[in-house]
Amino acid sequence: MGNSSIPEFHIHACFAAEKTLGTLAKWLRILGFDTLYEQDDWNSRGVDSEKQERMLLTRTKRIWEKNRSRKLIFIKSNHPFEQLKQVIQILGIDRADVRPFSRCVRCNTLIRRVDKALLRGRLPDYIWETHDTFQICNQ
Ligand SMILES: [Zn+2]
Repeated sequence: MGNSSIPEFHIHACFAAEKTLGTLAKWLRILGFDTLYEQDDWNSRGVDSEKQERMLLTRTKRIWEKNRSRKLIFIKSNHPFEQLKQVIQILGIDRADVRPFSRCVRCNTLIRRVDKALLRGRLPDYIWETHDTFQICNQ
């Protein structure tokens, strides 16, 4: 049987995306990557130390030039799908690295599976009757 441990990520990537990259940030969360999405403008405020360990994603040349020493990807395309492709290519992310739908798209926390029976009466009947697995966000 071997052991049943979940395979390790060969890439442990977490990201901080600037405010122009909201859709890209959402896609990274959908794939399971821990991604902060900045409502604030990095230009005026600078990139704080909390994000030091994260891979910065920016479309702003000035941010790129000011942060050469950090882990950073300068995103070239305007199109979210092309942006995602660029990140995946640069980091060499493959199928083993993604955990689709393991993370809440809205707040970035990990979601967990819940027992269907616990949700009886708390969801519309139609939803409860037609689905067998449910996941919730702790937030
Ligand atoms: Zn959430």
